[in-house]
Amino acid sequence: MFRRVYLDNSATTPIDPAVVEAMLPYLMAKFGNASSIHFYGQEARAALDKARHQVAALINARPNEIVFTSGGTEANNLAIRGLIEARQSRDGDIAAKPHVITSAIEHSAVLNVCDDLEKQGVTVTYLPVYENGIVRLDDVRAAITDETILISVMAANNEIGTLQPIAEIGKLVRELKSEGKKIWFHTDAVQAAGKMPLDVEAIGCDLLSISAHKIYAPKGAGALYVRRGVRLHPQNLGGHQERERRGGTESVPNIVAFGVACELAQNELERSAAELGLLRNSFESKVGEMISDVVFNGDRGNRLPNISNISFRSIEGEGLLINLDMQGIAVSTGSACSSGSLEPSPVIRALGHEDELARGAIRFSFGRFNTVADIDQVIEMLPKAVETLRSLSPKK
Ligand SMILES: *Cc1c(COP(=O)(O)O)cnc(C)c1O
Repeated sequence: MFRRVYLDNSATTPIDPAVVEAMLPYLMAKFGNASSIHFYGQEARAALDKARHQVAALINARPNEIVFTSGGTEANNLAIRGLIEARQSRDGDIAAKPHVITSAIEHSAVLNVCDDLEKQGVTVTYLPVYENGIVRLDDVRAAITDETILISVMAANNEIGTLQPIAEIGKLVRELKSEGKKIWFHTDAVQAAGKMPLDVEAIGCDLLSISAHKIYAPKGAGALYVRRGVRLHPQNLGGHQERERRGGTESVPNIVAFGVACELAQNELERSAAELGLLRNSFESKVGEMISDVVFNGDRGNRLPNISNISFRSIEGEGLLINLDMQGIAVSTGSACSSGSLEPSPVIRALGHEDELARGAIRFSFGRFNTVADIDQVIEMLPKAVETLRSLSPKK
């Protein structure tokens, strides 16, 4: 029997049945616009309020610090652009040519915003990550100039899962603030959410992005945490929604789903992290035993429990991906957003690996609905697939 195995949970997750159930009434009878004054509007408003509490609770924020967006990409855009534009429109203490610090391995939803800002005269420093895939605090400190107004470093990388020193960066930013420096800290926590504890007070960030479809809710909702007192220039101008920070009618069904997904993630955090870690580690140890010439990318200790990124020497990741897909196994090379190009993954390249290894990288990302049987199935097929491709490779 042909059985499919989905190991691309970092690209998107299946929707949890409990999440579907919670959102269904908002696709049917409870269709109101949350800005309407009548009964239907009040019903939708109450649902948004509840979801706002659920999302806030996952990251230890206050409900009024949550701005709902269409997803992680919009949250990142609003955070970075919104902050820079708010500062630029204020005269006085902010440099005309502001400086932003980020890392070389951010998601394209941060890197492409930074790239665009550079064209508008903003200076951007891209911190290196070294072979373990982790930013160094000393580099952050050394990069700060009088003009620096924003540091944006992700909580966990989407391709290799490495955890970045966000609490340390947050502490540094707090110290600088207490000395009177105008500097803010954003973290893209889209991958980290639901897989590790996230506490905006412990992290000390001003802005934090999360996305619904990476935590078992549908695509189309996300949130930006905005610390009380942080001013953002809205990127979506329109109605007065989200306390003037994001115009547009809220996607009530998606946001209800997102809220429930956050609650589930919070309730299951420890158990699911432990289970995912066991699955992932047993997968990796079998790969290590059965396949030669593999490199496990990124720090193997300091990373999310659900991501395994492996380079198979002498083969192209794309070829392996297609071979596995024909056998019903879904994995990815690099991030979903950069696939389609045959360029080696910039993230794996940032680890200092040569192109051959970067091109042979595959991400296996596990999720709530994966089982030991899934791992067994992959382990049955993967060594043969690698062997076949290697036997065809001109490099051998
Ligand atoms: C998926 C992802 C995003 C983008 O989120 P969307 O909701 O898909 O727009 C941003 N950052 C990271 C780290 C991601 O993994």
